[in-house]
Amino acid sequence: MARDPRYDPLFEPLKIGPVTAPNRFYQVPHCTGMGFQRPQMMAAMRGVKAEGGWGVVCTEYCSIDASSDESPYPSASLRDDDDVHNLRQMTNAVHAAGSLAGVELWYGGRSSANLYSREVALDVTSLLNSATLGIPVQSQAMSKADIESFRKMHSDAAHRAMAAEFDIVYVYGNHDYLLHNFLNPGYNQREDEYGGSLENRVRLLREVIEDVSEIVSGRCAVAVRYSMPMQLDDDPEGLIEAFALIAELPDLWDITVRDYRYEMGSSRFVKEAANQAAVAKVKSMTSKPVVSVGRFTSPDTMLSQVVNGTQDFIGAARPSIADPFLPQKIDQGRIDDIRECIGCNVCYAHDSLGVPIRCTQNPTMGEEWRRGWHPDRIDSRHADESVLVIGAGPAGLEAACALGQRGYRVILAEAEQELGGRINRESRLPGLSEYARVRDWRLGQLAKMENVQIYPDNRLDAEAVLELNSQHVIVATGARWRSDGVGRWSNSAFDGCELKGVVGVEQILDGYMPQGHTLIYDDDHYYLGSAIALKLTAAGVRVTMATPASELAGWSNHTEEHSLTMQALIEAGVEIITARGLVSYKPGEIELGCAYSARRSKIQADVLIPVSARTPDDELWQQLDLRRDEFAARGGLSMQRIGDCRAPGIVAAAVYAGHKAARELGQQEPAFKRDRVVV
Ligand code: ADP
Ligand code: SF4
Repeated sequence: MARDPRYDPLFEPLKIGPVTAPNRFYQVPHCTGMGFQRPQMMAAMRGVKAEGGWGVVCTEYCSIDASSDESPYPSASLRDDDDVHNLRQMTNAVHAAGSLAGVELWYGGRSSANLYSREVALDVTSLLNSATLGIPVQSQAMSKADIESFRKMHSDAAHRAMAAEFDIVYVYGNHDYLLHNFLNPGYNQREDEYGGSLENRVRLLREVIEDVSEIVSGRCAVAVRYSMPMQLDDDPEGLIEAFALIAELPDLWDITVRDYRYEMGSSRFVKEAANQAAVAKVKSMTSKPVVSVGRFTSPDTMLSQVVNGTQDFIGAARPSIADPFLPQKIDQGRIDDIRECIGCNVCYAHDSLGVPIRCTQNPTMGEEWRRGWHPDRIDSRHADESVLVIGAGPAGLEAACALGQRGYRVILAEAEQELGGRINRESRLPGLSEYARVRDWRLGQLAKMENVQIYPDNRLDAEAVLELNSQHVIVATGARWRSDGVGRWSNSAFDGCELKGVVGVEQILDGYMPQGHTLIYDDDHYYLGSAIALKLTAAGVRVTMATPASELAGWSNHTEEHSLTMQALIEAGVEIITARGLVSYKPGEIELGCAYSARRSKIQADVLIPVSARTPDDELWQQLDLRRDEFAARGGLSMQRIGDCRAPGIVAAAVYAGHKAARELGQQEPAFKRDRVVV
């Protein structure tokens, strides 16, 4: 298929200083959890994005000195010749596809506790470390000599960037890193020529941009990452005025908004193209090209950004993770094939956990090098064989999709009328509608496959499975939420769990609306408890939430959802109790136990909704497991269980399990390379 000519403006080349981007698709710097520790993994992943049509592909943040070390968060590094060698693998991969490669020079300042290097971090003044880990360490206020050596770090790194054959070199002026902290009058209380007036606070950023520009002049473009206030009339740092002083200095502006909760917002609270007022403001103040992110997944929204002149490049981190081939799909008129990001921030969460990123929508993300998985290609079937997939949740749908793509004869059986498993009910909760894309993209793909037969409304038992005579069976029957409180805090059911006022998550997901004061007990720590709370409060139900942890929904800190979740709950009038585990229920009264001491307390409430562990729905699997001989006698070759029916987890884990099962069917020894340094 050919490209719809309407989208031609997205494919027009554009000059950025001395280099030319082949199109307007720009993968901005984003963390991967790979960093300098896993250079091959990083190079392969970035190379795949270039292959998929991203005209510019950048690194993640790249440390330029040992005193800029944000461990345990992984960063890339451009500190010596070995780093140059490693990063050249990435530039080679990006150039091979005809794209430009960008590198983001990074000095953290107060954000870097330097836990690995044990160096002292420099910053505008002595500031407490800002990492969410609450590390009790401060930065050292920079002397004039430190400022000189800081500039030299950038100059040296710029030379290395050229040696590594990058085309775009970033100066990092936002995200509360050192250069941003100089801009911020709240932190910058220096009395020398780098503090005080706006002119002085901008001085260091200006000098570094000029230093780097001089070094890379004629060879590479200089880009600057910079934030604008979310509300343009609320700018206590003077970011707009500061911008005006340097608006024409670099070759490109990479613009974000000041509040990271919105820049990196989860789809529960922040929708596509949310930062556009700030971006348009910048565009009106500079003649230089502008790129910005907005979790763009709709080609029409992207087009309007470029055509209306809001921005010159469509910046993407998450959309390029969910679909590395997004540009190519627009180019080839395959709009329906675009795998849209759902805004769950599971990618970001894993970087923040110090491991390679993964993606709910794109199971190949992070597996390009170590497993050799490609987001748009998959090996053909190993033999003309049949596969029965039971259960059409995220795991079963993905398995059927990838097996169908490989060319197997696939039957997908689902007990419910509606395909989608957990996605169907959860995506109807407030804020979670974009999760339905996990189901819808796969249904769209399956609809095109003649070799996949789908049977909804078909609950299979072991007998029915055997009678279908499929050579391979994949059981993906999911899991169900427990209502007895068994979870992390307690491995036993609470007293009174069988009483009428105890309402299970399953009932709520089925649409039951409780009456009266409701206590949601959250020992899951992710999105479900708060999403249920917001559904109930919207219907006028009084809600209290209790958790045995020291903070509610703690895991959602990793997905950058926590703060906005808390804000939404507080604004909805939800009372929050922390560090209390569930002990017992009787009508009108719930007893909680202190997480630290033997103290008990009582809450007067009518209804209790425990959100804790799930039970694998593995009865079918257990029955089949007992009948393996019969299965083999009928020509059965392999049988496996995947996803939540094997081990309940997040949606991303189920999609991954489905993909892995499909990829590895018929493979003797699936690849799994390990990055390691051999001395
Ligand atoms: P996962 O996240 O692992 O994909 P889900 O719970 O989302 O799990 O989906 C499991 C799906 O399996 C559900 O849609 C459920 O209706 C379906 N299912 C469960 N048991 C059977 C069965 N015996 N036959 C067919 N489908 C089943
Ligand atoms: Fe989007 Fe979620 Fe994938 Fe991240 S993990 S790219 S937020 S779908």
